[in-house]
Amino acid sequence: MTTDSIEAAARLSALRTSIDRAASLTGRSADDISLIAVSKTKGADAIRPLIDAGQRIFGENRVQESQDKWPALREEYPDVALHLVGQLQSNKAADAIALFDVIHSLDRPSLLNALAKAMDAAGKRIPCHIQVNIGAEAQKGGCAIADVPALIAAARDADISLLGLMAVPPSTQEPAPYFALLAKMAREEGLPRLSMGMSSDYQTAIMLGATDIRVGTALFGERPAAARPVPGSGRGMIRNSPAT
Ligand SMILES: *Cc1c(COP(=O)(O)O)cnc(C)c1O
Repeated sequence: MTTDSIEAAARLSALRTSIDRAASLTGRSADDISLIAVSKTKGADAIRPLIDAGQRIFGENRVQESQDKWPALREEYPDVALHLVGQLQSNKAADAIALFDVIHSLDRPSLLNALAKAMDAAGKRIPCHIQVNIGAEAQKGGCAIADVPALIAAARDADISLLGLMAVPPSTQEPAPYFALLAKMAREEGLPRLSMGMSSDYQTAIMLGATDIRVGTALFGERPAAARPVPGSGRGMIRNSPAT
């Protein structure tokens, strides 16, 4: 084993232990929680050790970056699944359908139409989460809370398979109330899955019902500051540049 693969295995194992703990505290089984390793900004050399350590679900936030790095990796590891967790532009819908197994960021009718059309053209259905702008933040992606029932109805009409709801709570606030609200919305809509929780708050998310946690930093280490997006915006490369 190389140093990289030992480190990757250790990080994954520590994370799994911590997932187990959060799950068992609330009487849940860790088997019911999918870990999505968010590998944005990380190259194949950082991803491969994690696959070798047993991780099988990865997440990316940009279509272009994923097109550059994943086709080769997926040929090497055909059993790896790839999820899109970042904002999606309607004109990239067909590219996204070609590359990803799950889309977490369906958040508006125009994107729904583009995805439905791309899925019809490709002859396959890709399951989606509806992303909710749970903190009503102007700069963030996600469907406004009030518009969620209509978007769910439209998705069902378009024969899009809906897994659940996804959200990124406001970064400056205690996340628990937002996770609880998302869980309540999913329950009311009869949606079984909840994509919520990142490196800083996945334990809280698990205790409030998360079925899909999206973890980057805790598995891969810090991302370069310039490339750290505003969570959920998917295009924060410029906006997030620190002033100091
Ligand atoms: C980057 C990102 C994550 C992972 O964030 P970490 O804090 O590094 O765990 C999760 N979800 C989305 C939508 C992201 O963009």
